[in-house]
Amino acid sequence: MPDDFPQLAQIESSNPMAEGRTLFGLDAEALSALMLEAGQPAFRGRQLAEALYRQRIADLDAITTLPKALRQRLIAEGWQVGRPTIAQVFQSNDGTERYLVELEDGLTVETVWMPEGDDGEVGDDSDGEISQTLGAPGPDFRTWETNKPQSAQKIVRRATICVSSQIGCIVNCQFCLTAKLGLQRNLTAGEIAGQVLAVFDRHAVEVGRDRVNLVFMGMGEPFLNYDSFIAAVRLLVREAGLSPRRMTVSTSGIVPGILRFAAEQPELRPRLAVSLNAPNDTIRTEIMPINRKWPIAEVIDATRQIPLRSHERITFEYVLLGGVTDQLTHARELARQLRRSGLAAKVNLIAWNPGPDIPYSTPQPEAVEAFRSALISAGIPAYLRKPRGRDIYAACGQLKRTVES
Ligand code: SAH
Ligand code: SF4
Repeated sequence: MPDDFPQLAQIESSNPMAEGRTLFGLDAEALSALMLEAGQPAFRGRQLAEALYRQRIADLDAITTLPKALRQRLIAEGWQVGRPTIAQVFQSNDGTERYLVELEDGLTVETVWMPEGDDGEVGDDSDGEISQTLGAPGPDFRTWETNKPQSAQKIVRRATICVSSQIGCIVNCQFCLTAKLGLQRNLTAGEIAGQVLAVFDRHAVEVGRDRVNLVFMGMGEPFLNYDSFIAAVRLLVREAGLSPRRMTVSTSGIVPGILRFAAEQPELRPRLAVSLNAPNDTIRTEIMPINRKWPIAEVIDATRQIPLRSHERITFEYVLLGGVTDQLTHARELARQLRRSGLAAKVNLIAWNPGPDIPYSTPQPEAVEAFRSALISAGIPAYLRKPRGRDIYAACGQLKRTVES
């Protein structure tokens, strides 16, 4: 690590909550090992995994597949489920909900629920809708209506959950409110996966029927907490039964993380979004100082190592800052960069969401549209991400544990 980012050296390994008598976060194998150690048959571990991740039971005493005596003994020894809980809810008038999720040490982290999603992942077949519209009539897709009973089994509800990977962030992008917090600590795998299951419970999500996309785009930089992030994905895929094709992780361009990600098994690897945010190194360094360490060419080279699945594209996120990154010349330069990369790419444009004391401005709607058209004319698929929950500080880059709504 060069001297200009000494903090990065320490944080990948810091994981203060990794030890302790918390069951949530352990996979079936670890739970079986624990049961064997306690003189129990290994299948008790699989029963525990089923209870924690499929039945979503958050209280050890309520796991009735385990004999009562065993439950009581585990509790007496200090074991608990220890899943994060939703402590506070902020509701937006567009249906978005922002949660303060409480962790075992009393700290809180933020998670966001968006009925229907944010349109950020459209156009890439992540819902399998493209194939469905071409074939036989597909299921009836509905926006989330929690209080209405689902009369027909084939009605599919859709939503997106935005998940945090750290409390705060150390990357210091100049336009992001989360950056103002600095890094407080990494989350454990259980704390990352636990946000998802706590929100599933709140909205009575039925895995296998409902179309819920996960985006690891909340607080923090997932690739600076790589081990916990990928362990959380493993729990969500293997134990909770979710598909990694409906998960997208966003990175600010941490090259060693991208390279590790490229080596993951395809059946465990989410989609990747890279926060490019600028068309060249000069502007990117100004708004994302991390670019001095990993400039655009290195980020793109690393991204090229990822073996893509069929229909998969790499998403490049691009925050439009009024007057700074939203000019037509920027769009053309960005298109050239991406074409030159040879990557199957698409661009998600995000109009900057304001935050107090951040010296940028939102782009004019005409500038946004002109930018998008210029990318499309240059052959780069480009989408505009709808701002969701701006009124409750739930939109991209606004997560800072703001308690007034
Ligand atoms: N740390 C990761 C993921 C979380 S940020 C990353 O940076 O990729 C998720 C997205 O929100 C990123 O693309 C980031 O560039 C964008 N973002 C941050 N602050 C924003 C703001 N104020 N308005 C709009 N987008 C913002
Ligand atoms: Fe961290 Fe992402 Fe915000 Fe940058 S944009 S400070 S990497 S959360």
